[in-house]
Amino acid sequence: MAIQEMFCPRCGKPSDGLCAACRIEMTSWATIEPRIVYTSCPSCHFVKERGSWVAFDGNRKTLIDSIVQSALRISPEIQNVKVSIQSEDYSSNLTSCSIQVTGTIHSKPVESPLKLEILFKGELCTRCSRISGGYYEGVVQVRATGRGCSQREKDEIIRIAIEIEGTLRDAGNKLSFIARIDEVHKCIDIVVGTQQLGKLIAEATINKFGGRLTTHPKLIGERDGVPLYRLTFAVRIPFYQKGDVVEIDGRIAEVRDTNSRTVTIFTLDTGEIRGVRLAKYWRYIDNVQNALEGVVAYTDRDIIGIINSQTGRTHEICKVPWLDTAVGSHIRVLFDKEKNSLIIVG
Ligand SMILES: [Zn+2]
Ligand SMILES: [Zn+2]
Repeated sequence: MAIQEMFCPRCGKPSDGLCAACRIEMTSWATIEPRIVYTSCPSCHFVKERGSWVAFDGNRKTLIDSIVQSALRISPEIQNVKVSIQSEDYSSNLTSCSIQVTGTIHSKPVESPLKLEILFKGELCTRCSRISGGYYEGVVQVRATGRGCSQREKDEIIRIAIEIEGTLRDAGNKLSFIARIDEVHKCIDIVVGTQQLGKLIAEATINKFGGRLTTHPKLIGERDGVPLYRLTFAVRIPFYQKGDVVEIDGRIAEVRDTNSRTVTIFTLDTGEIRGVRLAKYWRYIDNVQNALEGVVAYTDRDIIGIINSQTGRTHEICKVPWLDTAVGSHIRVLFDKEKNSLIIVG
């Protein structure tokens, strides 16, 4: 009995059990499945990996390399592993790969040729199929009190929304998409894929423009016995905006802060700050964000001459006590079209 155990059962050479050479030959130390189905979204080119969709940016060669590398199973006994891949595209969705794996086991060189077929399959990812199916979970409805939104407000709200969508997508939240942006009643509706995105856009809009948020759920059905709601995030931004320049009873003032009833104003002739009751009949002139730059060309007692940097023309206006307007200083001015005059705003 003891003598029999001293020979390799495969080749008969003296060995205690299977000899090292036979063990190397019999071990499938590099294996790969013969065929892999590789699924990607034809719309956004995300790829499906273990059931979830992930971004892949790279060319077809790096794609094939990464598919082969992740499908290869190489025994940890192998050292100095080298993998070389040659691929041939049979068609746009079928690629054949010849893979040569080399290495050493117990300093003995080994090599293993393998074959793999990759079948490329298109499938809409969850995000794209939700978008194309018209799925959404909420609407951010931005309205301005007693007026339409200005173009500047609309542009800014859209910019904020797209930026938040991008931040969430980069963090892996792909279902937080903007499905649609509509202009409704001279204002903006943003249709969103998740309530989280809707909430963040609504809050950021209020952060920027002031106002208040109310949410209105609407039952749309149920899933697994749990009621499903679609949420409307109703954002109401104030009638006046920070930076609006208005005429109040013959005085020009800049709106510094605003809530539903009172407005804090900065009077542009005297430079005092005070609170007044909001009235919608104030004449709107412009917003300080649209101010032009002018250079003080000369001063004459209470008058300063300003060169409009856009037109090159010189305008005369009264000095203001709250701003240094020495010759050569750069100041910001707004043009009052109705009065055909310039207003110093900073
Ligand atoms: Zn043997
Ligand atoms: Zn997609």
